[in-house]
Amino acid sequence: MALPRHSCEKTVTAHPRSNRKLKIYKLGSMDPRKVLVVEDEKNIRDLVCLHLGVEGYECVAIADGKEAMVVAAERSFDLIILDLMLPGMDGVTITRAIRRHGPNRDAPILMLTARREEADKVMGLDSGADDYLTKPFGVRELVARAAALMRRARAPLTAADGEGRPINVRGVELDPSRRGVRVRGQQVDVTRQEFNLLYVLASNPGIVFTRDRLLSRVWQEQSFVTGRSVDTLVKRLRKKIEIDPAEPQLILTVWGDGYKFSDA
Ligand code: CA
Repeated sequence: MALPRHSCEKTVTAHPRSNRKLKIYKLGSMDPRKVLVVEDEKNIRDLVCLHLGVEGYECVAIADGKEAMVVAAERSFDLIILDLMLPGMDGVTITRAIRRHGPNRDAPILMLTARREEADKVMGLDSGADDYLTKPFGVRELVARAAALMRRARAPLTAADGEGRPINVRGVELDPSRRGVRVRGQQVDVTRQEFNLLYVLASNPGIVFTRDRLLSRVWQEQSFVTGRSVDTLVKRLRKKIEIDPAEPQLILTVWGDGYKFSDA
């Protein structure tokens, strides 16, 4: 299906060495958040950029994996939406390269895949993607996920130094200024790492974090920890905050190797 051209769409040269033209979709905002959309299916690419544009984001649309690498190495983005199967270079390879170095090392990455099994595999690989959507997806869901990922990226990495806002979600109250935790009205003593893990998850209800992302957020540069450390910490936390740790209602295990805080 051909989509109508966006009224604010304009075509610019992306890169001095590139002859290709990139579409940039933009509406009014003075300093719009910038989203890189890498997708070889034109209809999906246009649809995604159209709706991100309507939400006020600036969208740089690219169809080729290698070209995406060039652009991602030179410009920083607030979010990268990346198709898994691309000509030139696949989404996992691109994600790993982006995570290794460059201006988008910490940018949230939303992976688009054709099938759920592909997504499971990608997230299980700890490729560095933060979230995924399987095709076909609804644009409202895409916009919601995009917004959630960008919000999350703005949140502090940890609340270890008393930074970050207090939160109160599903009966769990977290106060970073004194590392205080109350669950269903009862004070709960937690370690610094337990607090940080809980804070990251509870700040983003419904968002799946792979073990790898949790490691980089909660433990940061401590290279001796592994995915197993995340499991152990989750287990300890569940004993402290869940009514029945065997049937967790707050910290949920998600397909593959991820965890999320319940948003139900
Ligand atoms: Ca594709």
